[in-house]
Amino acid sequence: MISLPLFPHPVSTLSVATLIWAAGVIGWYVLRLPFELKAKRTQVADARHRTLRDYTLLTISTLGLGIIPAVFAVTNWPRALTYPLSVAQLVTGTLVFAAALWLFWRTHRDLGRNWSVTLEIKDAHQLVTSGVYRQVRHPMYSAFFLWALAQALLLPNLLAGFSGLVGFGILFAFRVGREEAMMRETFGADYDAYVARTKRIIPGLY
Ligand code: SAH
Repeated sequence: MISLPLFPHPVSTLSVATLIWAAGVIGWYVLRLPFELKAKRTQVADARHRTLRDYTLLTISTLGLGIIPAVFAVTNWPRALTYPLSVAQLVTGTLVFAAALWLFWRTHRDLGRNWSVTLEIKDAHQLVTSGVYRQVRHPMYSAFFLWALAQALLLPNLLAGFSGLVGFGILFAFRVGREEAMMRETFGADYDAYVARTKRIIPGLY
């Protein structure tokens, strides 16, 4: 239980954390919507990588980052897997979610019209290597991992907390190699040089 100024009764850390998690997801959607509308209007030049496999991975990730935690937030299921949530965990989770949203917004701004939900190459697609793309090759995936980490901190439930890391982890593991192969096929030596000077998701590490 924590006491909040202006709030007559102490509220549980769990209900505050759940609200913060929900605000984060809504914030993410609001940030993304304008880019999604724009992406629908840009022509696709190469959709060979937009496969059932890629849609399946997107579904698994949505389950882990969205559906399973939403079910927990609304129904408390699965109650038996819930543990107490500390204030430190709540505060850290909030800061990590804020960092995820900031990075997410930066990646969208830097990637611009080259962004797509599924793997595809747009008309006049440009290889972006500046902004946050100078630090790592997949900063948007770094942002999703930060979101998943925030979820694990904010939702004190073994299923709903960790489903984001597992769900997004599966998408990342099965997609990143194909995405890089697609980029190499399209941009050749330029992409090889970019790979040689950057890491995937953590600057200097991986
Ligand atoms: N993996 C990147 C982008 C995710 S969006 C990230 O995590 O930031 C996926 C689409 O972005 C792919 O279909 C690909 O066409 C495009 N893309 C990925 N890296 C890119 C880059 N460096 N420059 C331009 N487009 C890129």
